[in-house]
Amino acid sequence: IELPPGLPSAAVIDLDAIADNVRALRSHAPKAQLMAVVKADAYGHGLVPSARAALAGGAAWLGTAQITEALALRAAGIQAPVLSWLTVPGDRFQQAIQQNIDLGVSAGWALTEIAAAAREAGTPARVQLKVDTGLNRNGCTLDDWPQLIEDALKLQAEGLISVVGAFSHFVSADAPGDPVNVEQLANFVAALDQAHTAGARFEVRHMANSPATLTNPAAHFDLVRPGLAVYGLSPLAGREPAEFGLRPAMNLLGRVTNVKKVAAGQGISYGHTYTTGEDTSVAVIPLGYGDGIPRHASSSGPVQIAGQQYRIAGRVCMDQFVLDLGPAGLDKIEAGDTAVLFGSAAGQPSAQDWADAAGTINYEIVTRVAARVPRLYV
Ligand code: PLP
Repeated sequence: IELPPGLPSAAVIDLDAIADNVRALRSHAPKAQLMAVVKADAYGHGLVPSARAALAGGAAWLGTAQITEALALRAAGIQAPVLSWLTVPGDRFQQAIQQNIDLGVSAGWALTEIAAAAREAGTPARVQLKVDTGLNRNGCTLDDWPQLIEDALKLQAEGLISVVGAFSHFVSADAPGDPVNVEQLANFVAALDQAHTAGARFEVRHMANSPATLTNPAAHFDLVRPGLAVYGLSPLAGREPAEFGLRPAMNLLGRVTNVKKVAAGQGISYGHTYTTGEDTSVAVIPLGYGDGIPRHASSSGPVQIAGQQYRIAGRVCMDQFVLDLGPAGLDKIEAGDTAVLFGSAAGQPSAQDWADAAGTINYEIVTRVAARVPRLYV
């Protein structure tokens, strides 16, 4: 994939990869529906085009954290079922109800506000109840769950809400052998039983993020809810996307801005934290932390140019970083060449390589690519 003329950088998104990844994920969970998680601008891939590609690949649902994200899907004309699960007091509940967006509920205040918004809107709100089975993050505690169910069913009887789903989220699904997975599943099943006994009838029960979709069929229930794997990245350490039939959708490209000689023993970039070992040549790439390149990848992030791999020399700056090309660089590389930070072709560096270089996770590498980097779709 080449960088189109004139652009300093671009994230080129392969929409067929997203659709194919959804197909592959569905084959890992053949009995379940699939909710493609498209929060945070579809993990940096672009909300609306990624959502459309996921639907084309067989996703029946879309999942967002914030209501604003769900509203953006509706504003683009996407009519598929959408669940938004991270709401705050005073949120845009009425708009969400009018736009037929399912609302995740983790606490009593949300039921109260959503019921009031439904009354205003003159339409019942579709609600999915989130139970905390061990993550101790968002979600209703197991202790408070019976009360939440009772309150929700009362509002349902009043015609203000429709309780359509129940869900939870894993602590360590990326560590399939961790006993906490078994414990959480048992807690979820018990919470579903309690709700059923109280009279709740859920259309969808769901718990599986990407790693649970790939490794834990017992967690599939009615619906799986993967994010990362939709974009073709592996959620499991040491496992390649291809092992699961996935391929990365994002290719992050920059254009070589300048190539020049630097003598041996010279420091490169701010603070001179990198010193050239020999008379060498360097290339400047116009991507920096202002574009989402982690500064922690200084002197380590991998970049491929013309089939050969180089590493960042010295500090990542706001708008640019430098590569040490070695003495032969001036003969092989020139201003205007395309530099691949990560891509999907064989032998190219991956988002995982960048995560390793920066001491973070592949999720963060793609999600943090900044708005300054244009998304191009192929
Ligand atoms: N479900 C919820 C509630 C989440 O917060 C997330 C993402 O963090 C996901 C599903 C998707 O997780 P993953 O990207 O690991 O598939």
